[in-house]
Amino acid sequence: EIKASGIGKSFGSFQALKDVAIDIGRGEFLTLLGPSGSGKTTFLMILAGFEKPTTGRLVSDGVDITNQPAEKRAAGMVFQGYALFPHMTVRQNVAFPLKVRKCPAEEMKRRVDEMIDRVGLTAHAHKHPAQLSGGQQQRVALARALVFEPGVLLLDEPFSALDKSLRTQMQDEMKRLHKETGTTFVFVTHDQSEALALSSRVAIFNHGELLQVGAPQEVYDRPANRFVAEFLGEIN
Ligand code: ATP
Repeated sequence: EIKASGIGKSFGSFQALKDVAIDIGRGEFLTLLGPSGSGKTTFLMILAGFEKPTTGRLVSDGVDITNQPAEKRAAGMVFQGYALFPHMTVRQNVAFPLKVRKCPAEEMKRRVDEMIDRVGLTAHAHKHPAQLSGGQQQRVALARALVFEPGVLLLDEPFSALDKSLRTQMQDEMKRLHKETGTTFVFVTHDQSEALALSSRVAIFNHGELLQVGAPQEVYDRPANRFVAEFLGEIN
């Protein structure tokens, strides 16, 4: 469980986040939803440990991690720009986080095989990323992020570059992986229907403020204010 309280983040005189408070439960699928520039990525970076909040505290399972560096937090990450290693095969990419953690060879092989199988890439394990389709590359990224069994998986619009049908496929894949692994997923998107379809809870941001958190049906049926109502009303 992660408790964020009073989280603020300023870049110079610009306030990207204002007094954000949220409890993220173990195993939940939380989506951070909001228009461009609303602070979603900044909040995710604070959860990852890549950005330090200007104000507020982060507590994970009772331990204050506000000033803990990203390496120690070891969240799994699938970001747009967080690319695969091009010179490594699928197998080597997926094995990398375990290698860094000095996982014994036999256990590493077992976990890597299992993870590659789980994302349906067993037949492609010897290939390099350039030989794979966009969707297959995203599956490798998911496998690499989950192979070391992180406490939380952070995803920042990982499928935004994919076409519509592939995107739907990857959403299903992500949902399945969430169910199978029981890992806490925190997913960033500006796509309302994607957020409502995938999440156990949605956190709606605008101008650096967290306006409402709730189950998809709840925020849709009872929006906290006019912005939320209009933003969710844009679904087509
Ligand atoms: P998008 O969907 O476009 O990625 P977002 O909701 O994720 O948007 P953030 O990336 O968190 O938004 O950015 C929130 C605001 O903070 C933006 O106005 C952005 O320009 C600003 N910002 C983010 N990072 C920095 C930085 N390193 N320095 C200055 N301003 C920043």
